[in-house]
Amino acid sequence: MKKKNIQTLFSNLCCSHCKNGFDEDSIIIKREEQGLTVISLVCKHCGKNFGVAFLGFSDLELKNPEDMIMEVQEGPEPITYDDVIDAHRFIKNLDGNWHQHLPK
Ligand SMILES: [Zn+2]
Repeated sequence: MKKKNIQTLFSNLCCSHCKNGFDEDSIIIKREEQGLTVISLVCKHCGKNFGVAFLGFSDLELKNPEDMIMEVQEGPEPITYDDVIDAHRFIKNLDGNWHQHLPK
C-alpha cells in the first residue's frame, strides 16, 4: 500500500502526546500482503510509539482513501442525568415488596 494512502487514513488523527499530526515518515510498513497491510505508527515529533496496526485492505481496494479516513473512537456514552433520575425513581418504587423483583 502506498504510504501516502496510509497517511490519508490517519489524517484525522494526531499524536495523543504532542498533538502533532502523522506524516508519511511516521508510518513504517512492516508487512504487506494481498488484502492486509501491517504498519507501525511512531510520532516523528516526540517519538511516541503507537504500536502496530493491521489494515485489512490493500491498495487495490483503496480507490478513495479519503472515504476511509479513521475517526477517533469515543468510549461508550456517559451516563446521562436522566438515567440517574430513572434509576433513583426505580429504587424509590421498590417499597416493602422489593423482593418480588428478585428471580424466584
Ligand atoms: Zn507526538
